[in-house]
Amino acid sequence: MKTNLQFYFIVKLTFVPQLLKFKRPFAIAHGMRNTTPVVFTKLELDGIIGYGEASMPPYLGESHESVLKFLKKAESVLKKYKLPIDINAILSAIDSIEAGNNAAKASVDIALHDLYGKIHNHPSHELFGASSNQDLFTAYTIPMDEPPGVEKRIEEASDYRILKVKLGSTDDKKIIEVIRKKSDKMIMVDANEGWTDKYFALEMIHWLAERNVVLVEQPMPKEKIDETAWITAKSPLPIIADEAVKRLSDLEKAKDVYSGINIKLMKSTGLNEARKMIALARQYEMKLMIGCMSETSCAVSAAAQLAPLVDWIDLDGPLLIQEDYFDGIKFSDGKIILNDLPGIGAIPDRDLFK
Ligand code: MG
Repeated sequence: MKTNLQFYFIVKLTFVPQLLKFKRPFAIAHGMRNTTPVVFTKLELDGIIGYGEASMPPYLGESHESVLKFLKKAESVLKKYKLPIDINAILSAIDSIEAGNNAAKASVDIALHDLYGKIHNHPSHELFGASSNQDLFTAYTIPMDEPPGVEKRIEEASDYRILKVKLGSTDDKKIIEVIRKKSDKMIMVDANEGWTDKYFALEMIHWLAERNVVLVEQPMPKEKIDETAWITAKSPLPIIADEAVKRLSDLEKAKDVYSGINIKLMKSTGLNEARKMIALARQYEMKLMIGCMSETSCAVSAAAQLAPLVDWIDLDGPLLIQEDYFDGIKFSDGKIILNDLPGIGAIPDRDLFK
């Protein structure tokens, strides 16, 4: 007779694709679009449910098709795990399924952290040692547009004290001048790799520095490493890597090229690696921003769990889409407000997984 009876619960993964619609067309140096594909994930263990999300901007190469294909493989990997949940072990098994697929991996990571927080009855930010008592001011994005469109966006941003302005076209100075006629708010500039000449970029950065711009993100294409290092060395403003730094392994070579990094869960494969990136970037004395793609309050609430640990917050994703499918962090007086719910603090506002 068996005396050592063991029984365990299997983690069950469910996922469903969705197309988010922008409130208005969204244009950056990579192109213009009206919608953005996402996939929602659900991890279930003994009636406790963790939620996650993958968001796939087209320029990063993932799609509904690739994410669903990857998650089918993840499903069979997850079936092998039992309690207690070892986040590092599970995520490293998920990571080794296949290279790339960063957003798909993030959707598992987020759901796993949500599940873990709910099992232990703690908000994720508490488990990360991130206090929620400080003011968490977020930037509000002003995409590329003609002057009347830019003016309208500035009006919409009236609650926000930081504007994140998308540049990288021949109209850059005109856009900043339109903004400065209406507002003296702090500006972060994101060129999205749009400037290709280092002398032009440095001249632009000096011009921007005289207009209360506080940082410049990804001024040059990520492949232009020497040129970017040259700009950073001479720049009066911090130069932040976005497209150039996706995961922890990109940080080492970025430390002598950029002043800081913009961490996004859809690049970093989720919270687990994002936390390691924060720790290593601090060791390198680099500046830190937490950002997001166009995504719902699910993935953005997850990213917000790290907001108290960084220098700049750019988490306005849910404000740019027509329909949010989750209730999560709130936006008030230009700040994000974390809640005390266990896990990532986001729950679907409808039955997403029927
Ligand atoms: Mg960016």
